[in-house]
Amino acid sequence: MTHSVQGRSVVITGGSKGIGKGIARVFAQAGAKVAIFSRHGEEAELAAKEVGHGAFGLPADVTSPGALERAMEEVARRHGGIDVLCANAGIFPAAKLEQMSSADWDYVMDTNLKGTFNTVKAALPYLKTSNQGRIVLTSSITGPVTGYPGWAHYGASKAGQLGFMRTAAIELASHGITVNAVMPGNIVTEGLAEAGPDYERNMTASVTLRRLGSVEDIGHAVLYFASKEAGYVTGQTLIVDGGQVLPESLMALS
Ligand code: NAP
Repeated sequence: MTHSVQGRSVVITGGSKGIGKGIARVFAQAGAKVAIFSRHGEEAELAAKEVGHGAFGLPADVTSPGALERAMEEVARRHGGIDVLCANAGIFPAAKLEQMSSADWDYVMDTNLKGTFNTVKAALPYLKTSNQGRIVLTSSITGPVTGYPGWAHYGASKAGQLGFMRTAAIELASHGITVNAVMPGNIVTEGLAEAGPDYERNMTASVTLRRLGSVEDIGHAVLYFASKEAGYVTGQTLIVDGGQVLPESLMALS
């Protein structure tokens, strides 16, 4: 499976750190030609250097259709097209409903949900001309499956991505493009480390496999959806959470 992305041109939004950088590493090691986007071009470049295998980084804010179009054009010029789009960029600032402002709501929706739409639109002309285009969204268990205080807007954006995916999968099928989504549970990233050891300990206790996920755990699931072997899979989701959503209560794990 991993060999079938060899030489394919892959764009990863939000690839300068966290899950996106893990996805980039997994694809680069599988022989893909990787381009990393993030708001801060220099951080995207640094991440690309770390990933190696000829990866490069570009500045592209997913809330800016123009910036995305310019970046996709540059990737297509340098890599001879775009075959795989990993729409991964996302933010998760917490705000409880009573304190959440309209601006808080818009910021999360504009980045996570409209940003997904903007990203797919900008990549589409290139994916259409690819032999077997692939779109893989990074959603979450939060929203589509679970809730968490402070993340009403975030959960709505992540569930919204799945609604978008299902119609996009139908519309883009005639171009040979598949559209799927991974739904991560709690993944160890730089951001999680900032949440502190108590948060990490409590989260680990609620995971069936008794460990938090790694960014590579998500990267491998994305790699599957992007492979040629997954060509008959579209409009689907894959939860990658170590069984976090399985137990009916914490007692089930004791
Ligand atoms: P992260 O470590 O904070 O990284 C976020 C990435 O997105 C960075 O590269 C950031 O770079 C980029 N980004 C943020 N806003 C952007 C924008 N407007 N335009 C372009 N790039 C932008 O986050 P993460 O934990 O890896 O999360 C990545 C994705 O996984 C998100 O969609 C998140 O919802 C999802 N997810 C994460 C977890 C988890 O446990 N970590 C669980 C479920 C789902 P710049 O700041 O340079 O733009």
